Amino acid sequence: MKWKEQVSTEIHARRRDVEHLALTIGKNPELGFEEVEAARLLTGALEGAGYTVTRGLAGLDTAFKATLGEGNPNIALLCEYDALPELGHACGHNLIGAASVGAAVGLAPFVESLGGRITVLGTPAEETGSGKVVLVDAGVFDGIDAAMMFHPSSLNLLMASSTALDAYEFEFIGKAAHAADSPEEGINALDGVLALFGGINALREHLPDGVRIHGIISEGGTAPNIVPARAVARFYIRAPRREMLDRITEKVLHIADGAALMTGTVVTAREFELATDNLMPSQPLALAFGANLQGLGVTDIEEFVEGRGSSDMGNVSRVVPSIHPYLSIGDGLVAHTPEFARASVSQEGLQVAILAAEALAHTAVDLLTDPLLLKAVQEEHVRLKESAIA
Ligand SMILES: [Zn+2]
Repeated sequence: MKWKEQVSTEIHARRRDVEHLALTIGKNPELGFEEVEAARLLTGALEGAGYTVTRGLAGLDTAFKATLGEGNPNIALLCEYDALPELGHACGHNLIGAASVGAAVGLAPFVESLGGRITVLGTPAEETGSGKVVLVDAGVFDGIDAAMMFHPSSLNLLMASSTALDAYEFEFIGKAAHAADSPEEGINALDGVLALFGGINALREHLPDGVRIHGIISEGGTAPNIVPARAVARFYIRAPRREMLDRITEKVLHIADGAALMTGTVVTAREFELATDNLMPSQPLALAFGANLQGLGVTDIEEFVEGRGSSDMGNVSRVVPSIHPYLSIGDGLVAHTPEFARASVSQEGLQVAILAAEALAHTAVDLLTDPLLLKAVQEEHVRLKESAIA
């Protein structure tokens, strides 16, 4: 308990700095992979607290890594700081970055005595570019024992699953012709796209619960009197588990081939965004975070909700035990709305960033001082990975 009190005292002493980070980033929204100012502010604060900072990781200029301490356990605190087009910080990632840096700054004077290491990872472009997928694939999470972050929300929630996601673009190529004068000379690429939609709709009857397939036609020809020579559709395909999704995506790719065959077109499929895996939250770690929240006076806490969206945190949870809990910054808020953007720079939002910093830091103290918790977290992660493959 002694450590947690000291860490909280340190965070409160630095409270203005942490709030300033949240507010400055919140009021200067930067899109994914362009978060230059946010990365500069967050790394500056970490350097000021004694962390060794590396700017730019795995070819991503706005990713960063900051470490303090030596050996293991090596606990990662993840920062997000990207905004949305037009809406600004309507997902509250300014609060995520500030809270993880707040936790790291609060822990800094005690890391040597606690033993082990704190690693802060700046993970850009959660919304559009899945920065964490790039970092996971580049081995940035190698040697890390657990990864933690919080996300603002309309409720306090310890664990939510998320769906695995594949993003495919299908380009059908046909042959242009006058649609009235010489249609027999044409090959209709739009028919390929329509056959793809028809085939996917037939597949829906035989999909497991929780699967989502949603598509748009992004190009469907230019004029009714020209047989479309090119048509393009984009689909998101989601499932509760990666292995289930792999089987379904294979069927969708077969449908595209079938649609090309039946229409005489040629189809090319490509992934237009990085695929993400489903989130497998660490239960022992999430419960430890919940106990720390209670210790900080939070009472209305929900344990688990099945999530339907997707996040690059899923890929992190495949390689490292991870938590992605939610804290309320206002009742009834819906993410990706102007109301949420306002809440993410509100007094309540800033208070929650401090609360999150404390709860994350206290959970890091647990991991650094309680070998049984770390063992339970690691053993569960082995089981989670095994059940994901089964
Ligand atoms: Zn978000």
